[in-house]
Amino acid sequence: MQNKITDRKLSLNTELGWSEAREEFLKPCKILIITHKNPDGDAVGSALGLKWILGRIGHTVNVAIPDDSPLFLKWLPGHNEIVVNDRKMTADISTLFNECDLIICADFNTPERLGGLEPLYRESGKRTLLIDHHPNGDPFTGYNFIDPTKGSTSELVYLFIEKMNFAEHIGVEAATCLLAGIMTDTVGLKVNCSYPEVFETVAALMRIGADKDRIYHEIYNTHSANRMRLLGYSLSKNMKILPEYKTAYIALTISELNSYHHRKGDTEGFVNYPLAIAGIVFSVLFTEQNDHIKLSLRSTGDFPANKFAQKYFLGGGHLNAAGGRFPGTMKEAVDRFESVLDEYKELLTSNR
Ligand code: 5GP
Ligand code: MN
Repeated sequence: MQNKITDRKLSLNTELGWSEAREEFLKPCKILIITHKNPDGDAVGSALGLKWILGRIGHTVNVAIPDDSPLFLKWLPGHNEIVVNDRKMTADISTLFNECDLIICADFNTPERLGGLEPLYRESGKRTLLIDHHPNGDPFTGYNFIDPTKGSTSELVYLFIEKMNFAEHIGVEAATCLLAGIMTDTVGLKVNCSYPEVFETVAALMRIGADKDRIYHEIYNTHSANRMRLLGYSLSKNMKILPEYKTAYIALTISELNSYHHRKGDTEGFVNYPLAIAGIVFSVLFTEQNDHIKLSLRSTGDFPANKFAQKYFLGGGHLNAAGGRFPGTMKEAVDRFESVLDEYKELLTSNR
Protein backbone atom coordinates (compact mmCIF):
# COMPACT_ATOMS: atom_id res chain seq x y z
CA MET A 1 0.00 0.00 0.00
CA GLN A 2 2.44 2.69 -1.08
CA ASN A 3 -0.05 4.79 -3.02
CA LYS A 4 0.15 8.50 -2.44
CA ILE A 5 -2.66 10.94 -1.88
CA THR A 6 -2.03 13.84 -4.21
CA ASP A 7 -3.65 16.97 -5.44
CA ARG A 8 -2.31 19.07 -8.29
CA LYS A 9 -3.49 22.40 -6.95
CA LEU A 10 -1.61 21.87 -3.72
CA SER A 11 1.33 20.18 -5.50
CA LEU A 12 0.83 17.02 -3.54
CA ASN A 13 2.16 13.62 -4.48
CA THR A 14 -0.85 11.52 -5.26
CA GLU A 15 -1.87 8.50 -7.19
CA LEU A 16 -4.80 7.79 -4.93
CA GLY A 17 -7.54 10.31 -5.69
CA TRP A 18 -9.68 12.07 -3.16
CA SER A 19 -12.75 9.94 -3.80
CA GLU A 20 -10.67 6.79 -3.28
CA ALA A 21 -9.24 8.31 -0.11
CA ARG A 22 -12.81 8.95 1.03
CA GLU A 23 -13.74 5.31 0.36
CA GLU A 24 -10.72 4.18 2.39
CA PHE A 25 -11.63 6.46 5.29
CA LEU A 26 -15.22 5.18 5.31
CA LYS A 27 -14.04 1.72 6.45
CA PRO A 28 -13.94 1.79 10.26
CA CYS A 29 -10.48 1.03 11.60
CA LYS A 30 -8.08 1.74 14.45
CA ILE A 31 -6.05 4.88 13.91
CA LEU A 32 -3.11 6.15 15.95
CA ILE A 33 -2.19 9.82 15.56
CA ILE A 34 1.30 10.88 16.65
CA THR A 35 3.13 14.18 16.68
CA HIS A 36 6.50 15.69 17.58
CA LYS A 37 8.31 16.13 20.89
CA ASN A 38 7.88 19.43 22.72
CA PRO A 39 4.42 19.48 21.16
CA ASP A 40 3.11 22.95 20.36
CA GLY A 41 -0.43 24.16 19.71
CA ASP A 42 -0.35 23.12 16.07
CA ALA A 43 0.92 19.64 16.91
CA VAL A 44 -1.69 19.01 19.59
CA GLY A 45 -4.46 20.96 17.82
CA SER A 46 -4.05 19.12 14.52
CA ALA A 47 -3.83 15.72 16.24
CA LEU A 48 -6.88 16.29 18.46
CA GLY A 49 -8.88 17.92 15.64
CA LEU A 50 -8.28 14.84 13.49
CA LYS A 51 -9.17 12.55 16.38
CA TRP A 52 -12.55 14.22 16.82
CA ILE A 53 -13.35 14.15 13.10
CA LEU A 54 -12.19 10.60 12.42
CA GLY A 55 -14.02 9.46 15.55
CA ARG A 56 -17.24 10.89 14.17
CA ILE A 57 -16.66 9.10 10.89
CA GLY A 58 -16.63 5.85 12.89
CA HIS A 59 -12.98 5.10 13.58
CA THR A 60 -11.37 4.20 16.88
CA VAL A 61 -8.77 6.90 17.32
CA ASN A 62 -5.95 7.50 19.81
CA VAL A 63 -3.43 10.31 20.08
CA ALA A 64 0.05 9.66 21.49
CA ILE A 65 2.71 12.30 22.10
CA PRO A 66 6.40 11.88 23.05
CA ASP A 67 6.26 14.27 26.03
CA ASP A 68 3.74 16.40 27.82
CA SER A 69 2.25 19.53 26.29
CA PRO A 70 2.41 22.98 27.91
CA LEU A 71 -0.27 24.08 30.37
CA PHE A 72 -1.86 26.56 27.97
CA LEU A 73 -2.99 23.65 25.77
CA LYS A 74 -4.53 21.44 28.46
CA TRP A 75 -7.97 22.99 28.05
CA LEU A 76 -8.28 21.72 24.45
CA PRO A 77 -11.28 19.40 24.04
CA GLY A 78 -10.07 15.80 24.32
CA HIS A 79 -6.68 16.75 25.76
CA ASN A 80 -7.18 14.48 28.79
CA GLU A 81 -7.37 11.44 26.52
CA ILE A 82 -3.94 12.00 24.98
CA VAL A 83 -1.44 9.29 25.90
CA VAL A 84 1.88 10.86 26.92
CA ASN A 85 5.01 8.74 26.58
CA ASP A 86 6.84 10.29 29.52
CA ARG A 87 4.27 9.20 32.09
CA LYS A 88 5.49 5.61 32.12
CA MET A 89 2.89 4.81 29.49
CA THR A 90 5.31 3.14 27.09
CA ALA A 91 3.64 -0.27 27.42
CA ASP A 92 0.23 1.17 26.59
CA ILE A 93 1.67 3.15 23.73
CA SER A 94 3.40 0.16 22.23
CA THR A 95 0.03 -1.65 22.30
CA LEU A 96 -1.49 1.27 20.41
CA PHE A 97 1.28 1.01 17.78
CA ASN A 98 0.84 -2.77 17.53
CA GLU A 99 -2.94 -2.82 17.36
CA CYS A 100 -3.69 0.07 14.99
CA ASP A 101 -4.39 -0.21 11.26
CA LEU A 102 -3.09 3.24 10.30
CA ILE A 103 -0.64 5.69 11.85
CA ILE A 104 -1.16 9.36 11.04
CA CYS A 105 1.87 11.59 11.62
CA ALA A 106 1.00 15.23 12.16
CA ASP A 107 3.22 18.33 12.04
CA PHE A 108 6.75 16.97 11.60
CA ASN A 109 8.89 15.99 8.64
CA THR A 110 11.39 13.52 10.01
CA PRO A 111 10.92 10.56 12.39
CA GLU A 112 13.75 11.87 14.63
CA ARG A 113 11.31 14.52 15.85
CA LEU A 114 9.32 11.73 17.51
CA GLY A 115 11.77 11.49 20.41
CA GLY A 116 10.94 8.42 22.50
CA LEU A 117 8.22 7.32 20.06
CA GLU A 118 10.67 7.00 17.16
CA PRO A 119 11.63 3.33 17.76
CA LEU A 120 7.96 2.34 18.16
CA TYR A 121 7.13 4.13 14.91
CA ARG A 122 10.03 2.57 13.01
CA GLU A 123 9.19 -0.95 14.21
CA SER A 124 5.46 -0.66 13.67
CA GLY A 125 5.26 -1.73 10.00
CA LYS A 126 1.79 -0.16 9.66
CA ARG A 127 0.22 1.94 6.91
CA THR A 128 1.28 5.52 7.45
CA LEU A 129 0.07 8.95 6.41
CA LEU A 130 1.82 12.27 6.98
CA ILE A 131 -0.04 15.58 7.19
CA ASP A 132 2.50 18.39 7.50
CA HIS A 133 3.57 21.88 6.48
CA HIS A 134 7.34 21.75 7.09
CA PRO A 135 9.62 22.24 4.07
CA ASN A 136 12.38 19.91 2.86
CA GLY A 137 11.28 16.71 4.60
CA ASP A 138 12.08 13.25 3.33
CA PRO A 139 8.71 11.67 2.70
CA PHE A 140 8.96 8.87 5.23
CA THR A 141 5.34 7.67 5.14
CA GLY A 142 3.33 5.64 2.63
CA TYR A 143 0.87 8.48 2.02
CA ASN A 144 1.58 12.19 2.23
CA PHE A 145 -0.43 15.36 2.41
CA ILE A 146 2.26 18.03 2.59
CA ASP A 147 2.05 21.71 1.76
CA PRO A 148 4.87 23.97 3.05
CA THR A 149 3.05 27.08 1.82
CA LYS A 150 0.49 26.69 4.60
CA GLY A 151 0.96 28.33 8.00
CA SER A 152 -0.08 25.30 10.03
CA THR A 153 -0.75 21.58 9.93
CA SER A 154 -4.13 22.28 11.50
CA GLU A 155 -5.16 24.20 8.38
CA LEU A 156 -4.01 21.23 6.29
CA VAL A 157 -6.13 18.88 8.40
CA TYR A 158 -9.16 21.02 7.58
CA LEU A 159 -8.30 20.98 3.85
CA PHE A 160 -7.63 17.25 3.93
CA ILE A 161 -11.03 16.56 5.47
CA GLU A 162 -12.76 19.00 3.13
CA LYS A 163 -11.14 17.39 0.06
CA MET A 164 -12.62 14.04 1.08
CA ASN A 165 -16.05 15.65 1.52
CA PHE A 166 -16.08 14.95 5.23
CA ALA A 167 -16.53 18.57 6.38
CA GLU A 168 -19.94 17.71 7.86
CA HIS A 169 -18.08 15.62 10.47
CA ILE A 170 -16.22 18.64 11.83
CA GLY A 171 -17.95 19.45 15.10
CA VAL A 172 -17.31 22.28 17.52
CA GLU A 173 -14.61 20.32 19.42
CA ALA A 174 -12.62 19.62 16.26
CA ALA A 175 -13.11 23.18 15.00
CA THR A 176 -11.81 24.50 18.34
CA CYS A 177 -8.71 22.28 18.23
CA LEU A 178 -7.95 23.18 14.61
CA LEU A 179 -8.42 26.91 15.13
CA ALA A 180 -6.19 26.71 18.22
CA GLY A 181 -3.52 25.06 16.04
CA ILE A 182 -3.85 27.73 13.36
CA MET A 183 -3.71 30.48 16.00
CA THR A 184 -0.52 29.19 17.62
CA ASP A 185 1.49 28.68 14.44
CA THR A 186 0.43 32.07 13.10
CA VAL A 187 1.07 33.77 16.49
CA GLY A 188 -2.55 34.89 16.76
CA LEU A 189 -3.09 35.25 12.98
CA LYS A 190 -0.15 37.63 12.64
CA VAL A 191 2.55 35.67 10.80
CA ASN A 192 2.61 32.87 8.21
CA CYS A 193 -0.92 33.68 7.10
CA SER A 194 -0.50 36.27 4.33
CA TYR A 195 -2.75 34.44 1.90
CA PRO A 196 -6.51 34.88 1.81
CA GLU A 197 -7.44 31.17 1.86
CA VAL A 198 -6.38 30.72 5.48
CA PHE A 199 -9.07 33.17 6.54
CA GLU A 200 -11.64 31.13 4.63
CA THR A 201 -10.65 28.17 6.78
CA VAL A 202 -10.74 30.32 9.93
CA ALA A 203 -14.21 31.55 8.91
CA ALA A 204 -15.43 27.99 8.29
CA LEU A 205 -14.18 26.86 11.72
CA MET A 206 -15.82 29.85 13.40
CA ARG A 207 -19.11 29.08 11.64
CA ILE A 208 -18.95 25.55 13.04
CA GLY A 209 -18.65 27.10 16.49
CA ALA A 210 -14.98 27.65 17.30
CA ASP A 211 -14.77 30.65 19.61
CA LYS A 212 -11.81 32.65 18.29
CA ASP A 213 -11.66 35.05 21.23
CA ARG A 214 -11.78 32.31 23.84
CA ILE A 215 -9.07 30.35 22.01
CA TYR A 216 -6.87 33.45 21.84
CA HIS A 217 -7.48 34.10 25.53
CA GLU A 218 -6.63 30.53 26.60
CA ILE A 219 -3.41 30.49 24.59
CA TYR A 220 -2.10 34.01 25.08
CA ASN A 221 -3.71 35.44 28.23
CA THR A 222 -3.53 32.67 30.84
CA HIS A 223 0.08 33.04 31.95
CA SER A 224 1.27 32.97 35.54
CA ALA A 225 2.70 36.09 37.17
CA ASN A 226 6.03 34.23 37.40
CA ARG A 227 6.05 33.76 33.64
CA MET A 228 5.51 37.45 33.06
CA ARG A 229 8.30 38.31 35.50
CA LEU A 230 10.60 35.84 33.74
CA LEU A 231 9.76 37.57 30.45
CA GLY A 232 10.51 40.96 32.01
CA TYR A 233 13.84 39.65 33.33
CA SER A 234 14.68 38.09 29.97
CA LEU A 235 14.14 41.34 28.09
CA SER A 236 15.60 43.78 30.60
CA LYS A 237 18.56 41.85 32.01
CA ASN A 238 19.26 39.00 29.69
CA MET A 239 18.69 39.96 26.06
CA LYS A 240 21.85 40.62 24.10
CA ILE A 241 21.68 42.69 20.95
CA LEU A 242 24.24 42.36 18.19
CA PRO A 243 23.37 45.30 15.90
CA GLU A 244 26.18 44.49 13.46
CA TYR A 245 24.34 41.24 12.70
CA LYS A 246 20.79 42.56 13.15
CA THR A 247 20.48 39.77 15.71
CA ALA A 248 19.37 39.48 19.32
CA TYR A 249 19.33 36.54 21.70
CA ILE A 250 18.17 35.52 25.15
CA ALA A 251 19.94 32.74 27.08
CA LEU A 252 18.23 31.30 30.16
CA THR A 253 20.00 28.83 32.45
CA ILE A 254 18.20 26.29 34.63
CA SER A 255 18.99 28.34 37.74
CA GLU A 256 17.50 31.48 36.17
CA LEU A 257 14.42 29.50 35.11
CA ASN A 258 14.12 28.02 38.60
CA SER A 259 14.32 31.38 40.28
CA TYR A 260 11.09 32.26 38.46
CA HIS A 261 9.50 28.87 39.28
CA HIS A 262 9.49 27.98 35.61
CA ARG A 263 6.83 25.58 34.35
CA LYS A 264 6.76 23.85 30.97
CA GLY A 265 5.69 26.29 28.27
CA ASP A 266 6.56 29.45 30.21
CA THR A 267 9.24 30.56 27.72
CA GLU A 268 6.98 29.89 24.73
CA GLY A 269 6.81 33.09 22.66
CA PHE A 270 9.82 34.82 24.30
CA VAL A 271 11.81 34.44 21.09
CA ASN A 272 9.37 36.63 19.18
CA TYR A 273 9.92 39.76 21.28
CA PRO A 274 13.40 40.79 20.03
CA LEU A 275 12.01 40.83 16.47
CA ALA A 276 9.88 43.80 17.53
CA ILE A 277 13.07 45.89 17.81
CA ALA A 278 13.66 48.04 14.72
CA GLY A 279 16.44 46.54 12.64
CA ILE A 280 16.44 43.08 14.28
CA VAL A 281 15.84 40.30 11.77
CA PHE A 282 17.09 37.24 13.68
CA SER A 283 16.22 36.23 17.23
CA VAL A 284 17.27 33.18 19.21
CA LEU A 285 16.21 31.86 22.60
CA PHE A 286 18.59 29.47 24.37
CA THR A 287 17.12 27.51 27.27
CA GLU A 288 19.19 25.14 29.34
CA GLN A 289 17.75 21.62 29.68
CA ASN A 290 19.08 18.77 31.83
CA ASP A 291 21.45 17.43 29.19
CA HIS A 292 21.59 20.01 26.41
CA ILE A 293 20.80 23.57 25.39
CA LYS A 294 17.55 24.01 23.46
CA LEU A 295 17.35 26.67 20.77
CA SER A 296 14.32 28.44 19.35
CA LEU A 297 15.07 30.53 16.29
CA ARG A 298 12.93 33.14 14.54
CA SER A 299 13.70 35.39 11.56
CA THR A 300 12.00 37.89 9.33
CA GLY A 301 12.19 38.21 5.55
CA ASP A 302 14.24 35.60 3.76
CA PHE A 303 16.83 34.76 6.41
CA PRO A 304 16.66 30.94 6.68
CA ALA A 305 16.41 30.15 10.38
CA ASN A 306 15.88 26.48 9.44
CA LYS A 307 19.11 26.17 7.43
CA PHE A 308 21.05 27.93 10.18
CA ALA A 309 19.57 25.55 12.80
CA GLN A 310 20.26 22.55 10.60
CA LYS A 311 23.87 23.50 9.86
CA TYR A 312 25.00 24.40 13.37
CA PHE A 313 22.47 23.21 15.92
CA LEU A 314 21.18 19.76 14.93
CA GLY A 315 17.77 21.19 14.11
CA GLY A 316 15.50 22.50 11.39
CA GLY A 317 11.99 23.77 10.84
CA HIS A 318 10.56 26.57 8.73
CA LEU A 319 12.26 29.50 6.98
CA ASN A 320 11.25 31.94 9.74
CA ALA A 321 10.72 29.57 12.71
CA ALA A 322 13.08 26.78 13.60
CA GLY A 323 14.42 24.81 16.53
CA GLY A 324 17.65 23.09 17.44
CA ARG A 325 19.87 21.80 20.22
CA PHE A 326 23.46 22.04 21.41
CA PRO A 327 25.08 19.28 23.47
CA GLY A 328 27.23 21.34 25.85
CA THR A 329 27.13 24.24 28.28
CA MET A 330 25.25 27.47 27.80
CA LYS A 331 28.50 29.38 27.38
CA GLU A 332 29.68 26.99 24.69
CA ALA A 333 26.33 27.23 22.88
CA VAL A 334 26.33 31.02 22.91
CA ASP A 335 30.01 31.22 21.91
CA ARG A 336 29.34 28.86 19.04
CA PHE A 337 26.36 30.94 17.97
CA GLU A 338 28.27 34.22 18.02
CA SER A 339 31.22 32.68 16.18
CA VAL A 340 29.17 31.36 13.25
CA LEU A 341 27.08 34.53 12.79
CA ASP A 342 29.82 36.19 10.76
CA GLU A 343 29.29 33.66 7.99
CA TYR A 344 25.75 35.04 7.60
CA LYS A 345 26.61 38.72 8.07
CA GLU A 346 25.82 39.76 4.51
CA LEU A 347 22.54 37.86 4.42
CA LEU A 348 21.51 39.23 7.82
CA THR A 349 22.41 42.85 7.18
CA SER A 350 20.82 42.90 3.71
CA ASN A 351 17.55 41.68 5.26
CA ARG A 352 14.68 44.01 6.02
P1 5GP B 1 10.08 26.03 18.45
O1 5GP B 1 11.07 27.16 18.44
O2 5GP B 1 8.68 26.54 18.66
O3 5GP B 1 10.49 24.92 19.36
O4 5GP B 1 10.11 25.41 16.99
C1 5GP B 1 9.87 26.18 15.85
C2 5GP B 1 9.69 25.32 14.64
O5 5GP B 1 10.84 24.54 14.39
C3 5GP B 1 8.53 24.34 14.74
O6 5GP B 1 7.91 24.28 13.47
C4 5GP B 1 9.18 23.03 15.05
O7 5GP B 1 8.43 21.98 14.52
C5 5GP B 1 10.54 23.17 14.38
N1 5GP B 1 11.56 22.51 15.18
C6 5GP B 1 11.83 22.73 16.48
N2 5GP B 1 12.86 21.96 16.90
C7 5GP B 1 13.26 21.25 15.83
C8 5GP B 1 14.28 20.26 15.62
O8 5GP B 1 15.05 19.89 16.51
N3 5GP B 1 14.37 19.73 14.35
C9 5GP B 1 13.55 20.13 13.33
N4 5GP B 1 13.71 19.56 12.12
N5 5GP B 1 12.58 21.05 13.51
C10 5GP B 1 12.43 21.60 14.72
MN1 MN C 1 3.16 23.42 12.79
